[in-house]
Amino acid sequence: MTALLEAEGLARHYQVRKGSRLFSRPATLRAVDGVSFTLQPGRTLGLVGESGCGKTTTAKLVLGLLPLSAGEIRLQGETLPKAGSTRWRELRRTMQMVYQDPLAALDRRIAVGRQVMEPLAIHTIGTPAERRDKALAILESVGLQAHHFARYPHELSGGQRQRIVLARALILSPRLLVCDEPISALDVSIQAQVVNLLLALQAKMGLAYLFISHDLRMVRQVSHEVAVMYLGRIVEQGDPDRLFAAPAHPYTRALVSAIPVATRKGRQRLILKGDPPNPIDVPSGCAFHERCPIAVARCRAETPLLRPMADGRHVACHLAA
Ligand code: SF4
Repeated sequence: MTALLEAEGLARHYQVRKGSRLFSRPATLRAVDGVSFTLQPGRTLGLVGESGCGKTTTAKLVLGLLPLSAGEIRLQGETLPKAGSTRWRELRRTMQMVYQDPLAALDRRIAVGRQVMEPLAIHTIGTPAERRDKALAILESVGLQAHHFARYPHELSGGQRQRIVLARALILSPRLLVCDEPISALDVSIQAQVVNLLLALQAKMGLAYLFISHDLRMVRQVSHEVAVMYLGRIVEQGDPDRLFAAPAHPYTRALVSAIPVATRKGRQRLILKGDPPNPIDVPSGCAFHERCPIAVARCRAETPLLRPMADGRHVACHLAA
């Protein structure tokens, strides 16, 4: 089966200056550096890691919201052309974004029905009456009713607003939704409802999700595969049950140890030394070696490649067995 999305060696580099104003010198900030993954229709890839690890930049590269410094994106086998071209616009319709903060994603001055119909108007699809019918049908599919069509964002709850954002993303019948922290701005009581809605829509429409979140328990629940990012690179990738039960990379171990567990003894938390390094000054060898509790001399000299393990996952660590 042809993959829905193939990302190969994605990179986003920025030329910056480092050092004091008088003595600064050029440097390269590697926000994303050689990220590869494949996503099949109807599947979810969870992307996790600390803030600033490159998750959102990866999502923006996939959607063409940032230009690639290197790498290639293929959609159903077709290489994504230059952003802005006619063919890119056609292909881009099949990929939509669901943002973190629904209130910021919606225009408070415009009734939600008009906002849901807007993508159809932009792509000159259908007559005004057909657009309205489609918007009403989509609102129903995300659990809203016809009377919500004329409401304004501030008149709705957080959960209803995120449903509107979903409806607007779905109206062009995409195949892939890039969900960037889609529940983190919602009350805890609403988060499960929105996640259940995402799962139901996936089962009904065969949607694929690139699901970015800090909430590792939620990522485990929704993902068919998980990729852990550190300083712009994937350091561990594989089946969520195996990855969360027995993380192979020391960084994944530290992330997983921070997930609260409902036992009296809890779980021993692995606290990493210091903060992530400045991405302009990535340490030599393994970028994680300054914080890694098991680093050896080789780690300072040699960059570990993402390599397959016997259980099917991929890990970038010299000591992963
Ligand atoms: Fe730690 Fe070395 Fe593995 Fe990097 S390669 S994660 S420093 S053990």
